[in-house]
Amino acid sequence: MKITILTTFPEMFAPLHQSILGRAQKAGILSIREVDIRAYSKNKHHNTDDAPYGGGAGMVMLAQPIVDAMRDVQGEGFCGRRIYLSPRGATLTQKKAEALAREKELILLCGHYEGVDQRALDLCIDEELSIGDYVLTGGELGAMVLVDCVARLIPGVLGCEESAQTESFSSGLLEYPQYTRPREFEGLSVPAPLLGGSHAQIAEWQLEQSLLITLRRRPEMAEAYLAGRKLSRAQKRVVERVRAQIAEEEKEKREQERRKRALFLCSLAGSGRGRR
Ligand code: SAM
Repeated sequence: MKITILTTFPEMFAPLHQSILGRAQKAGILSIREVDIRAYSKNKHHNTDDAPYGGGAGMVMLAQPIVDAMRDVQGEGFCGRRIYLSPRGATLTQKKAEALAREKELILLCGHYEGVDQRALDLCIDEELSIGDYVLTGGELGAMVLVDCVARLIPGVLGCEESAQTESFSSGLLEYPQYTRPREFEGLSVPAPLLGGSHAQIAEWQLEQSLLITLRRRPEMAEAYLAGRKLSRAQKRVVERVRAQIAEEEKEKREQERRKRALFLCSLAGSGRGRR
């Protein structure tokens, strides 16, 4: 896949050329290129922003350098997606990353200051994507997040494709806990099924742990996973066990809440008596 990032801060992208993504680029599986929007400015001082029409704080990025940069990098017959990183965009999810990983080419536009002249977006952007409901100073960190999560889904980038398929979100559940050597660390042991268990026992333990974590942290995700699945008899037993454990945990939580409330009411009654 070819990824081009349009930015006024190309030097911010060093992390995308290290580690796993760096190796994938050396192997020719992936190409990541940063293009400086400033180089396309027709302005005397190579400015890329100006004050907003209608007033207001901050500066707005000029349409001209962005549109010229985009037209130059996409060339003739571009077939990919042109994405503007923006807090107004749809939220980037694993599903979206999987769809983007199937594209041949991506061009990412990083905004800065108050954002980008709308006409540049109207002329050359296919979609806006946000990395979450918060506001960053620029689109560069958002672009890095997008590139990282998309690139690792491209066949050959991770080396071990299975690891991307069993991970949180891809499988439909959050991932089970992982352990490595040593067997004992500061009094904590690696769970027994991972040490001596058969492949089936290990898979059962992993499903049980994934379900437990997902039901505790993202119950709506766990229910969606269970609703759309045909389970084997062994898997059904795992689900029953996990549901019983969660019910027990919830009962315990309610009991703790009840005790806390009772203590609070007691302390109120006590302080009332003290004042009289
Ligand atoms: N005035 C804009 C607004 O209220 O929507 C915010 C502009 S923000 C300070 C500057 C740039 O950071 C944006 O143009 C965008 O490229 C990037 N950005 C900020 N928050 C983002 C987010 N959650 N996801 C992706 N990009 C973001």
